[in-house]
Amino acid sequence: MKIDLSGQIALVTGASRGIGSSIAKMLGACNAHVVINYKTNEAAASQVRDEIINSGGSAEIVAFDVANEEEVKAAIKVLGEKHGRIDILVNNAGVSKDGLILRAKSADWDEVVHTSLKGAFLCTSHALRYMLKAKSGRIINISSVVGLGGNAGQSVYASAKAGLIGFTKSMAKELASRGILVNAVAPGFIRTDMTKGMDENKVASMIPLSRVGLPEDVGGAVIFLCSELAAYITGQTIVVDGGLYI
Ligand code: NAP
Repeated sequence: MKIDLSGQIALVTGASRGIGSSIAKMLGACNAHVVINYKTNEAAASQVRDEIINSGGSAEIVAFDVANEEEVKAAIKVLGEKHGRIDILVNNAGVSKDGLILRAKSADWDEVVHTSLKGAFLCTSHALRYMLKAKSGRIINISSVVGLGGNAGQSVYASAKAGLIGFTKSMAKELASRGILVNAVAPGFIRTDMTKGMDENKVASMIPLSRVGLPEDVGGAVIFLCSELAAYITGQTIVVDGGLYI
C-alpha cells in the first residue's frame, strides 16, 4: 500500500535541517506540496526544496520565527491565500539548552519554551482556520521522550516537550468533532545537529535496538500519522526511540 498525499498542503516548521528536513522530503515523496519553514538557514532550506523538486515533488521555502506571532500570522496568511488550504501541520521547530537547573537562565527558558511550545501554539492557531474550513486536517507535534520521562540536565527542554503532550491531548479532544486529528511523536536520541558531539556509542549501548535513531525513523511515524492508515488515531504520542523509554 502506497501512502498518497496528493493535493495536500503540508507545512513543516524547522525543516531546513535534521528531523524536519527528513519529514519534509518524505512528505514530498508522498506527493504532498511541502512548505519548508526555517528561521535563518536559507541555503539549507533551499537544498531541501531542490531535493524534493528534483525527485519529482513539489515544495517551497518560507522563513519565519515560530516564536514570533507577527511573523507566523503573516506567513500563514500568505500561504493560506496562495493555496486556499493547509492540510498538514508538523510543529517540529525546536532548540535545546541543556544544563543543571541551578545554572539555567530565564533567557534559556524563554528561547526553548517559546520555540517548541509557544511556536506550536502560534502555528496551530493560525493554520487551524484553514483546517476548520475544510473540516479536516492533521497536526503532529514533535515532542521528546524527555517530555515523558524527564532527564537530569534537561528540565527546561523537558518542560517544553511535556507541555506539547498536554497541548496535543487537549487539542485532540477539542478538534475531533471538526475532523482534525492531533498527535505527537516523541523521539529518543536522533542523529542531527542537536545531538552532535554526544558519544553515539555510549548512547547506543543504552538502547535496546543498539543504535541511535535517524531522522527518517521519526519521519516514518509522522507519515503514518498523516495518512489514512491513522484515521482513527488522535491524542496519542508515538515514541520513536529504539526501545530506550519503555
Ligand atoms: P536541528 O537539527 O537543530 O534543527 C532545528 C530546526 O529548527 C532547524 O531547521 C532550524 O532552522 C529550526 N528552528 C530553530 N528555531 C526556530 C524558530 N524559532 N523558528 C523556525 N525554525 C526554527 O534539530 P532536530 O534534532 O532536527 O530537532 C527537531 C525537533 O525534534 C525539535 O523539536 C527537537 O526538540 C526534537 N527532538 C530532537 C531529538 C534529537 O535527538 N535530535 C530528540 C527528541 C526530540 P534554521 O536551520 O534556520 O536554524
